[in-house]
Amino acid sequence: MSERSIIVRDGLLVCMLALTSCQTVQTTQPGAVGVERQQSMLLSSSQVDKSAAQAYRQEMKKAAVKNALNRDAAQVARVRVIALRLIPGTAAFRPDAPRWAWETNVITSNDVNAWCMPGGKMAVYSGLIEKLKVTDDELAAVMGHEIAHALREHGRERASRAAAQGMALSIGGALLGLGDSSVQLAQIITDVTINLPNSREHEVEADRIGVELAARAGYDPRAAVTLWQKMGQVGGSAPPQFLSTHPSPQNRQKDLTDYAARVMPLYESTRKR
Ligand SMILES: [Zn+2]
Repeated sequence: MSERSIIVRDGLLVCMLALTSCQTVQTTQPGAVGVERQQSMLLSSSQVDKSAAQAYRQEMKKAAVKNALNRDAAQVARVRVIALRLIPGTAAFRPDAPRWAWETNVITSNDVNAWCMPGGKMAVYSGLIEKLKVTDDELAAVMGHEIAHALREHGRERASRAAAQGMALSIGGALLGLGDSSVQLAQIITDVTINLPNSREHEVEADRIGVELAARAGYDPRAAVTLWQKMGQVGGSAPPQFLSTHPSPQNRQKDLTDYAARVMPLYESTRKR
């Protein structure tokens, strides 16, 4: 089955299993990079964002218990400055996003990882910053990519799919608001954000939107290419967790190079200001 027909089939599955409440939406405007795709959503944004906030609190609490939350003030400041520069550019994709309740924290961990939950709840791991010796431009590339997943509501899309599949197993009803479902949904959000691999389709969208967000914030969008090269080089036989949750097709480098070139005028215009 072609990739396209699998996408159509999954979209239909989501809708068929939820005849009354399914929505087809475009979560974002296309931007300069032209990302456009209809998305099938079974769960509402408010439902998902609420559970994501709950899941995020849990993750931060787990880190705090291990004394691994925001331990290095300079690192935290660096990451938050980059987040603050990236966030205004999200308006190019969705006008509501700059007003989201964004949060950015740094977790001390050897893992090379970063993620952003639905609604803008972000974490960057010290292992990514230190092992890759990232430049600010590269850090902006990672964070732009993760923010893009949140803008496109990939977490909501994947949780919707999980809920639709769960309906066959009768847990879907709970997720649709028929019971005490928020704990279950928070677990699904954690899994799809941190533990399970993203689809290639979601990765391509996040890559393209990510380079535009970096460029609009005045970070060199070409840093996305060197970032993913570095990512591929660390770890030797044990690839970073980030790569296991982010399938890395061979043509990723070419796509990033092409799209970074496309948004260079946006980057250059920020430098003339
Ligand atoms: Zn990703």
